[in-house]
Amino acid sequence: MLTCRDVAERADQVIDVVQDVGPWDRIQFRLHLLICPNCRRFVSQFEQTVRIVGGRSWLEHHSDAEEQIVEKFRAISVAK
Ligand SMILES: [Zn+2]
Repeated sequence: MLTCRDVAERADQVIDVVQDVGPWDRIQFRLHLLICPNCRRFVSQFEQTVRIVGGRSWLEHHSDAEEQIVEKFRAISVAK
């Protein structure tokens, strides 16, 4: 079973379909979301952000921004 930390670290890989995450990883990720409201909230915020900025291709050209976003969401998930 994934921990909340695992979910935070993998969120960008699982949400972004460009990245080839194995089906088992994806299932474990979704299973964790079923039992963990904190991570559900975290991932839904993350998905909204990815949608707003247009996905990873945007982030690749703004690596500083990506780090800031990840750090921000990590802080949110730890604070809850
Ligand atoms: Zn969790």
